[in-house]
Amino acid sequence: MSWEIAVERAINNNVPRVYKILKEHPYILDLAKELREAKLKVLENLDYYVDKTLDSVKRAGGHGYLASTPEEAREIVGKIVGKGKTVVMGKSMVAYEAGIREFLIRQGNEVWETDLGEFLIQLANQPPSHIIAPAIHLTKEEVEKLLKEKIGGVHEGSTHEELVARVRQFLREKFVNADVGITGANAVASDTGTIALIENEGNIRFSSISPAMHIAITGVDKIVPTLADATKEVLVQSAFAGLYPPTYVNFTSGPSSTADIEMKRVSPAHGPKEFHLILLDNGRIKASKDPVLREALLCIRCGRCHLHCPVYRALGVKWGDPPFTGPMGAMWSYVVYNDPKPAMYCAHSGNCKEVCPMKINIPKVLEYIKWKGNKQKA
Ligand code: SF4
Repeated sequence: MSWEIAVERAINNNVPRVYKILKEHPYILDLAKELREAKLKVLENLDYYVDKTLDSVKRAGGHGYLASTPEEAREIVGKIVGKGKTVVMGKSMVAYEAGIREFLIRQGNEVWETDLGEFLIQLANQPPSHIIAPAIHLTKEEVEKLLKEKIGGVHEGSTHEELVARVRQFLREKFVNADVGITGANAVASDTGTIALIENEGNIRFSSISPAMHIAITGVDKIVPTLADATKEVLVQSAFAGLYPPTYVNFTSGPSSTADIEMKRVSPAHGPKEFHLILLDNGRIKASKDPVLREALLCIRCGRCHLHCPVYRALGVKWGDPPFTGPMGAMWSYVVYNDPKPAMYCAHSGNCKEVCPMKINIPKVLEYIKWKGNKQKA
């Protein structure tokens, strides 16, 4: 089965690399402990931190919004973007959760995913199968066939490098002509209103700098107390994702600005004229008030639990409600979609808990969701 081959290759490429990174940079484990404490502090008082973050975004010259539901998030994005625009999107699970791409296309915009994996599943019209590698289920041979059919310019037996080069060539013109860039955020610093984004491709930097407008959409669970904590999050996430050091770390605090004339800070400069941050609740604030479910909100989306889980290896993309797959997805399908079914498949191997940088007791959370699900049925 091609799915199993693709995941086996990904596991062989990724798992030894993470162990090597952690051995070479042992300070990451200390940062992970500190990050867990910082995130817990926010989750124990989330309403306060949401308000504080929105104030900070405003102080930095941006616009901040809290969207209670995906519908509200779409309405906010729809008003900001309007119609007839070219939109480039960096990878955002929350944008997927809120159905932003399809909504903007329906509203009459040209919209392109620019993360390579997201671009592939946009072309294939498929859901993402892993939180950091959304096209993990496609083999190289399938990617070649897909590109050949949809955009051309590849030949039989193309190398990995040739496939990536073809997508680079196709998307370059979209970046240059885009009116709006939409990204997610790996962390949001409450004290400064800064969003932190990690990437390797360069697509997020393009999407957040080249267009005149940058919209970031993320969950309220991404808030951390300070910019120093946001820095810890990008280091810990990238290490546990096996991509350390990350090629790019982007910090964005409001629209572009300069103080080069008489040291007076004015905006915009060369980058975006407008910066908007949309924080999505969609069940997260309720979950933060439940001492067991709160643990799920500590997830930093490194994707490590997937690759150590026997159930994910067996079920793959079919396990969870997209974009939430794997062990973290079984927790998040309940938090966001109130769906306890993915939790029911957990076989409690416990590997996920062992490898999680946030030390989330995933089996315990899933046991609790199973109990809640059974109570709903009774
Ligand atoms: S649950 Fe833990 S291991 Fe899994 S994606 Fe989240 S932080 Fe990573």
